[in-house]
Amino acid sequence: MPQKTSLAIRTLGPYGGSAPGYRLTSFLIDGESALDAGALTDALPLSAQRRIRRVILTHAHFDHIASLPLLIENLYGQAQPLEIIAPMPVLSVLSRDLFNERVWPDFRKIPSKKRPTVRLKPIAENKPFRAGRVVFTPFAVSHIVPAYGYVVSRPGRSVLFSGDTEPTDRLWAAAARTRHLKAIFLELSFSDSQLDVARAPRHLTPSLVVDALSEMPPRVPVYLYHMKPPSLARIRREIAAACQPRLKLIEGERSFRF
Ligand SMILES: [Zn+2]
Ligand SMILES: [Zn+2]
Repeated sequence: MPQKTSLAIRTLGPYGGSAPGYRLTSFLIDGESALDAGALTDALPLSAQRRIRRVILTHAHFDHIASLPLLIENLYGQAQPLEIIAPMPVLSVLSRDLFNERVWPDFRKIPSKKRPTVRLKPIAENKPFRAGRVVFTPFAVSHIVPAYGYVVSRPGRSVLFSGDTEPTDRLWAAAARTRHLKAIFLELSFSDSQLDVARAPRHLTPSLVVDALSEMPPRVPVYLYHMKPPSLARIRREIAAACQPRLKLIEGERSFRF
C-alpha cells in the first residue's frame, strides 16, 4: 500500500527534443502539479489535464512550455484558474513573448479579468512554497537563460529536479542541504562527442555528469532526462561505458513513488 505521505512522480516526457515516442520535458507530481509543460497535452487525456491545478516552470525555453498554450485552451471555462508558477524572470518572458495576443491570446483576461483561465504566480528563489500536499523550493541553476531547479518534498522524503543546467555548485549545494533526499532528476542533453555544442547553451554530457557524481550525496539514485533524441544512442553507450550503477536514463513514461 502506498503511504499517505508518499511522493508520486510521473515522467510524462523525459526528452529535450520531440519526435514520435519522444515527448518533451514534463513531469506530473501528485497528479495535480505539473513541473514543466513540454508535452502535457500529448501525454494526458482531457480528464487528467483538468486535474492539473498548477504548472511550475524551470525556465521559459520552448521545449519546457510547448504544450502550455494548448493546455490553457483546454481548461477554458473551468471554475478555478490554472496557476503558472515560477520566479519572475521566467514569468516575464511568458507575459512578453507568449501571452502577448500575437503568439497566443492572453488567457489572464479570458473569458474575463474577474474569471480568468490562467493566473501567473511569481515565487521567490530559495523560499519553499506549498502546492497542494507538496512543498516546492526553487533554486537558481546555470543555463543560458534564467533557470531554476526545484526540491520537491513531502514529510520524510524529497527529490530534486535540476532543470536545464551546466555543472554548478548551486546544484550540489541544494542536494547537500536537502534532508531525506530519495532521488535526483538530472538533465543530460548531449553526448560527449558534442561537448562544444553542450557548452554554449550550458547543458550536461555523460562525462560532465560522471565528474559531478562525487559532488552529490552518496547512494542517492540519479535519473537522467532531457536527452536530445538525435543524441540518445550515443548517450546510452557513453552512460553504459561509465559503469556507474547510480546513473539511470529515463527513456519513457515512468511512475515513481518515493
Ligand atoms: Zn530544455
Ligand atoms: Zn533550456
